[in-house]
Amino acid sequence: MATSATPPRLASAMDAWRLSIGDDHVIDDPATLALTGTATYAVDQPVPAVIRPSSTIEVAQCMRIATEHGIHVYPISRGMNWGYGSKVPAESNCVVMDLGRMNQILDYDVEMGTVTVQPGVTFHQLQDLLEEHGSKHFMAAPGTSPHASCIGNALDRGWGFGPYSDRFDYSAGMEVVLPDGEVVETGNARFRGSRSAHLFKWGNGPYVDGIFTQSNFGVVTRMTFFVAETPPIFASYVYKIAGDAKLPALMDALRELKMRHIMRTNFKVQSFYRLFMERQQFPAGQADFLLSPEAVAEAKQKWGIDDWNGFGALYCWSDAQYAAEREIVEQVLRPHVDALVFLDADVMARKDAIKDEVLEETGFHLEQILDRFWVNTRLIGVARGKGVSGAYFRKSTPVPDELDLDRDRVGFMWVDPILPLRGTDVRDAADLAGQIMKHHGFEPNLGFNCVTERAIFMTISLVFDREREGDDARAMRCAKELAQRMTAEGFTLGRVANGLMNVLDHAQPASLDLQHRIKEALDPAGILSPGRYEVPPSF
Ligand SMILES: Cc1cc2nc3c(=O)[nH]c(=O)nc-3n(C[C@H](O)[C@H](O)[C@H](O)COP(=O)(O)OP(=O)(O)OC[C@H]3O[C@@H](n4cnc5c(N)ncnc54)[C@H](O)[C@@H]3O)c2cc1C
Repeated sequence: MATSATPPRLASAMDAWRLSIGDDHVIDDPATLALTGTATYAVDQPVPAVIRPSSTIEVAQCMRIATEHGIHVYPISRGMNWGYGSKVPAESNCVVMDLGRMNQILDYDVEMGTVTVQPGVTFHQLQDLLEEHGSKHFMAAPGTSPHASCIGNALDRGWGFGPYSDRFDYSAGMEVVLPDGEVVETGNARFRGSRSAHLFKWGNGPYVDGIFTQSNFGVVTRMTFFVAETPPIFASYVYKIAGDAKLPALMDALRELKMRHIMRTNFKVQSFYRLFMERQQFPAGQADFLLSPEAVAEAKQKWGIDDWNGFGALYCWSDAQYAAEREIVEQVLRPHVDALVFLDADVMARKDAIKDEVLEETGFHLEQILDRFWVNTRLIGVARGKGVSGAYFRKSTPVPDELDLDRDRVGFMWVDPILPLRGTDVRDAADLAGQIMKHHGFEPNLGFNCVTERAIFMTISLVFDREREGDDARAMRCAKELAQRMTAEGFTLGRVANGLMNVLDHAQPASLDLQHRIKEALDPAGILSPGRYEVPPSF
């Protein structure tokens, strides 16, 4: 098995890559390498070089060269894996393969609602394309930067909003370059001339697409995504509760809506601190990490938020459908929330006349919620990445116009356990995470991302300033304790930051062995993304 990019082998691989993809795209200048090796938390995996192939053929050539020379390679699509490792490989001495030059939208099938893209294609690019075609469809937009990659997001099993939230679920037909340079297609795309290559996820026979997500088995160079039809009637709703006591019943009520497919989008329920951080930076004059009760009360009023805050949406094709679905939401949710406001075209038209009444009755600022949840909203495919500014909460400098968490030394880590969508489990997980975070001096910045009907992502974010002495180490201690104790309680992680991969040792030995056997078969030289979703060799 190859071990690492030792200097002589690296030098000859670099020569071969230069011949293959051109001098300009084999990069070893210190500034680029330093930025590529920077994440939103402390890492110690220096990157020896960056290669930038521009086509599937070049990716295949690069992989063959890497295999021949025994050089580790770590592919990224846009490298905005903020909070999970950014562009930084899971292990040292990996050459980063940046696929940003492969940024072509290969096909938009307007009739069937599919888009086929290369790895460098961003959410922003797709949004522009869909708008140019009259916004007949929309892509599930994530909360992260609009300049992140659709394929990169899907390969880490990320999510967006709208009816097709679970991005990998709504995809078909991959093209994958294996570590030895072989190019394979999946699903029905593997059958020459198949008319359903970009439409049918499963193909026939053994289904393999899943093994190329959250793994290190291949470099994905093309994928098709399904895009949701834009409905003539789009409405959303926001709700909130004071205190923690009502949270379990609220989550059970939301499960009812989700199971009945009345709530077709991914929706979030978020703690006070999650929303507070998205709205302003740490207030001057507050000594402690938790705000004083007076400051909390003031912030709640100013931003129209409470201890737990949620949203949802309705996608309807007739007034009658909207009226019926809205009534069901009212019946199921109203008993479990302190305030509930629907946002639709009618509310938009009457906003000036009703905003004072809404404020008085619910504490919601109508213009703010209309902007966030009805006009410029991820719920209908608008990717703005507004929430990313919350990552700058602890920075003493103002939030810049162009956000780059790595460049700005923003401290950010995600720990994402999967919970049953059941009130008691949500309460247990929120209590445990809150205790651990406070113990380490972090605000309980929590979200429940309800992507599927039965199991949900809890997103725990640690927000800190990498410039502040001791913060990097404190965050890593807290993240490790969260990962270990949540896992021990049965809240298994759904997405794992590169710095936390050792939680995977909880898997059964036989399942680890299966994973190793697949790896051995596809990548006997062990050159692709070592340590990514793999139990580290020390275990
Ligand atoms: C404030 C904030 C909000 C966020 N909101 C969301 C959200 O709503 N939803 C969400 O899902 N995430 C969210 N994120 C996390 C992250 O920013 C996104 O998941 C983002 O899409 C990942 O970056 P990328 O798309 O550029 O993927 P990349 O960084 O390019 O890829 C992610 C990983 O996948 C692997 N990979 C990438 N491309 C390939 C390839 N072609 N072949 C093989 N392996 C590959 C690599 O290991 C890479 O590290 C958020 C982060 C922050 C800080």
